[in-house]
Amino acid sequence: MTAVDATQDEQPSVYQTRYGERTFSYHLCYLPEHKKATIRVHVHPNGMVQVDAPEKSQLPEIKAAVQRRAKWILKHLDDIEERNRYVQPRAWVSGESMLYLGRRYVLKVIDDPSQRKVTCKLIGGQLRVQGKELTTERTQKAVRQWYRDRAEDVFQRRLTMMVEALPWAKTIPDWRMIEMQTQWGSCSPEGAVLLNPHLIKANTRAIDYVLLHELCHLLEHNHSPRFYALLDRFMPEWRSVKERLDGQAEQLLLGA
Ligand SMILES: [Zn+2]
Repeated sequence: MTAVDATQDEQPSVYQTRYGERTFSYHLCYLPEHKKATIRVHVHPNGMVQVDAPEKSQLPEIKAAVQRRAKWILKHLDDIEERNRYVQPRAWVSGESMLYLGRRYVLKVIDDPSQRKVTCKLIGGQLRVQGKELTTERTQKAVRQWYRDRAEDVFQRRLTMMVEALPWAKTIPDWRMIEMQTQWGSCSPEGAVLLNPHLIKANTRAIDYVLLHELCHLLEHNHSPRFYALLDRFMPEWRSVKERLDGQAEQLLLGA
């Protein structure tokens, strides 16, 4: 999945192209055939270039289409690089904004000499990290662990609910978390699901979309028309959910 993209999992098809002195790579994604389908190029906020092509397109045709858009793609990649140059790295101090389940919380770092173990709790609108000698590293580590714990719990609960609704999913698949820079999740041919812990910062609908995407792969291993038909059936609005999630990728992958 994205820059992070729920559709970039199994067998990523990555190609490279040259334009003038420069090269860039792109992910090729085949879409089910429908009337108005054309080859489309997207540049995700994290700099991933995705090319959607109708299922029956030939590779030379796709490559020519990418070449025609190359100048436009490189312009976007340059803009992203320029923007990222000014993204301030997190300082892990009170007042910073933290995302959890699509909502913003204020980080509060409380130095408490009496507390040996660092704790991290969501209290009211605050994500409160408390402990003694709170260095940037200790604060970051505590927040990171909190995100992982929350992700573990929320993903398991949503998967349980979803499995009950999907006729082909008899039990919760084996799953684990792994940090990924360009995917929200993946599903191996053997049915093992990997989920990106950063996804816990997105809203529940987006989490459900990613889980549903991977669960549909248990039945349909490729992004075939049958696969998209399953998504349409169980989450008719998945396209807008995915678009929103991909648009937030840069933000969700930042920090903790
Ligand atoms: Zn997929």
